[in-house]
Amino acid sequence: MRLFTDKMAAEKLEDPISERLHARILEISKIGRTENEGAKRMGYSKEESQAKDKVIEWMQEIGMQIRKDGAGNVFGTYQGEDSSKVFMAGSHIDTVPDGGHFDGAAGVLTALEIVTLWHEAGYTPKYDFEVVIFSDEEGSRFSSGLTGSRAFMGLMTEEELDKYRDPDGQTFDEVIRNIGSDRQQFLTAEGPGKQIAMYAEIHIEQAKQLEQKNLPVGIVSGIAGATRTKITFHGAAGHAGSTPMTERKDALVKASEFISTLPGIPKSISQTAVATVGKMSVSPGGVNVIPGEVELVVDARDINEENQSKLIQAVADHAQDIVHDSGITVETDLTTRVTPIPIDPEVIERMEASFKRHDLLPIHLPSGAGHDAMTVGTKFPVTMLFVRSIQGISHNPEEFTHIEDLTQAVKVLKDFFENL
Ligand SMILES: [Zn+2]
Repeated sequence: MRLFTDKMAAEKLEDPISERLHARILEISKIGRTENEGAKRMGYSKEESQAKDKVIEWMQEIGMQIRKDGAGNVFGTYQGEDSSKVFMAGSHIDTVPDGGHFDGAAGVLTALEIVTLWHEAGYTPKYDFEVVIFSDEEGSRFSSGLTGSRAFMGLMTEEELDKYRDPDGQTFDEVIRNIGSDRQQFLTAEGPGKQIAMYAEIHIEQAKQLEQKNLPVGIVSGIAGATRTKITFHGAAGHAGSTPMTERKDALVKASEFISTLPGIPKSISQTAVATVGKMSVSPGGVNVIPGEVELVVDARDINEENQSKLIQAVADHAQDIVHDSGITVETDLTTRVTPIPIDPEVIERMEASFKRHDLLPIHLPSGAGHDAMTVGTKFPVTMLFVRSIQGISHNPEEFTHIEDLTQAVKVLKDFFENL
């Protein structure tokens, strides 16, 4: 198996954009690089700060103005013709504990590349253009996520911060002090201040659709909102030897029926709906005891809010149908619901035009995972591009994206902003 640096050494670099992206990705990859050449830059760690500082250096080389907010989010501003509104592009630079070198970093460095090209060409964008690095997107530190962008959008609460403990037992207040901020400054992180005319994020696909279609870049058609439904099957525990088969109320048998038939539900709602059971607990949990109770969690998502509602209902109805007349009862509890973020059809059309100008097929892809664009998209127009991921592998040192594919994304997004 080839490691990251070997793969990078073998990359074709036929474009000056690719050369610079290649060099910068390599440079950032040295910060928090693990023994197996993965990345470890947890949110609010020394490594995340060092990576931000490196990007700040590059921003300053092309005259960008730097500021940081109380959540540690970094903004590099490039002066546009009009400062009443702002264009923004970026992503995050933190990683999961044994992650790869493209998830997040690719979005920050491609956004910076656009400005670098403008700087070289003496081009002035319509509005001020800000490259943003959002803090702690992965949320590996506190089992959260999108921490920096949510603070930026005023979506974090005291209650949530109170619950945070990192793996070393540190509280949020202790951790945030490490980056020279505090809870108050975090909760009142500056916010956009002015209208964001467009936020754009380039991100690796983390799936195989582009690879299967042999395309370098795709247009994200919407960002799915995750929902979590806790489903509890109540049966009756009993002796596994002495209870006849006809007299059992085995909660796990019903739960299994539910799980094995769940995959049929999303496709009855939409092509972009998905549902997964990834967590289940069986009690009492003895080898010789009939399961009396099973609790599982269904993660269900769609990029369309109406379909998301239908999906939640269909999952709950399905659980009731399964236990019908069996003597087993079921309870469903919707514990989490994140609103999906649609992408404006007009924005998608403009992006399609940019694709066509670069002889690229404008394929649409739904985003099943959450990204910082999702948070910004709660108030402002957003667009996202996905870039082909080798074998769809992500959150893993094996994660890889060809630099030439990132270059294509840079060209398309630059064109998009120039024509907005
Ligand atoms: Zn990411």
